[in-house]
Amino acid sequence: MYDVVIVGGGAAGFYAAIHIAEDRPDLKIAILERGKEVLNKVKVSGGGRCNVTHAEFNPKELASNYPRGEKELLGPFHNYATGDTIHFFEKRGITLKIEEDGRMFPISDSSQTIVDCFTSEARRLGIETIKICTVTGLEFVTTKSEDYWKIATSNKSINTKRLLLCTGSNTKIWNLLTELGHTIVPPVPSLFTFNIKDNRINNIPGLSTYAEVSVLDNKKHFRDNLTMQDEVLSSEGPLLITHWGMSDPAILKLSAWGARLLESYNYQFKIKVNWVPNIILMDYWNCS
Ligand SMILES: Cc1cc2nc3c(=O)[nH]c(=O)nc-3n(C[C@H](O)[C@H](O)[C@H](O)COP(=O)(O)OP(=O)(O)OC[C@H]3O[C@@H](n4cnc5c(N)ncnc54)[C@H](O)[C@@H]3O)c2cc1C
Repeated sequence: MYDVVIVGGGAAGFYAAIHIAEDRPDLKIAILERGKEVLNKVKVSGGGRCNVTHAEFNPKELASNYPRGEKELLGPFHNYATGDTIHFFEKRGITLKIEEDGRMFPISDSSQTIVDCFTSEARRLGIETIKICTVTGLEFVTTKSEDYWKIATSNKSINTKRLLLCTGSNTKIWNLLTELGHTIVPPVPSLFTFNIKDNRINNIPGLSTYAEVSVLDNKKHFRDNLTMQDEVLSSEGPLLITHWGMSDPAILKLSAWGARLLESYNYQFKIKVNWVPNIILMDYWNCS
């Protein structure tokens, strides 16, 4: 019987396990991971550099950057925020640096530093990491003497007093949670680039600039009948022309803030790009 089992060997699973083990060294803790390796996403994060956190120290400001969950995150950010994250890594010999735009990376500029930190800390604190172990079922068992979770996995059944799910966007786990009576808000894509088939950008992939981009109201205006006013969402920042359309923060921010709106447009919408925000030099693009 474990005291705590954490399902999912990603950033969330390791960060949680390490904090629990530090606070309660007496507990028997395990991380269950379905893959052959743990922390795969951390490895590729931030273009291989891992953008660990952002230099925003005011909880209210920090929460305001979350398109959904701003209200819910405010309380937790008052308990644990950017300063605590920086301290967590500093305590373990990892210094983070702040880039011009506020993003914070390890000074090594390598996500492996973060992966190594998590895995060596887990080892040091006696956290068991069980790989190639897919969780397939969860059952809450009540007996006269104790209550516990019975976890069905691809290899064996595991019992634990406390269960923490850090499985990211795994729909099978969401289905298990639904069976247990939880409600799952249907997810939609976020942080995606825009597909644009347009001769004007066919020959310039790789070109990067700073622009202001707005999504136009699909309900008021159909694709070719637009006025400048009908913006429903806009953002400003670096914009990259890609082989398939447009990317970079100006676009990614729109896809995050507009995740539900763009889904309601069935991902067929028009954007307006102002290429020189201070002067106003704009044109229109159909996205899909
Ligand atoms: C290309 C890319 C770059 C990114 N860059 C950054 C960045 O620089 N900074 C940043 O903050 N974020 C970045 N992100 C986002 C960040 O990687 C994720 O938000 C974060 O890794 C999510 O961590 P997690 O632990 O919640 O989920 P995950 O990393 O998805 O971990 C979940 C784990 O659970 C395991 N699992 C799932 N189901 C089961 C099961 N049934 N049984 C057992 N195990 C299971 C999975 O195999 C996985 O290892 C990036 C994402 C991508 C894709």
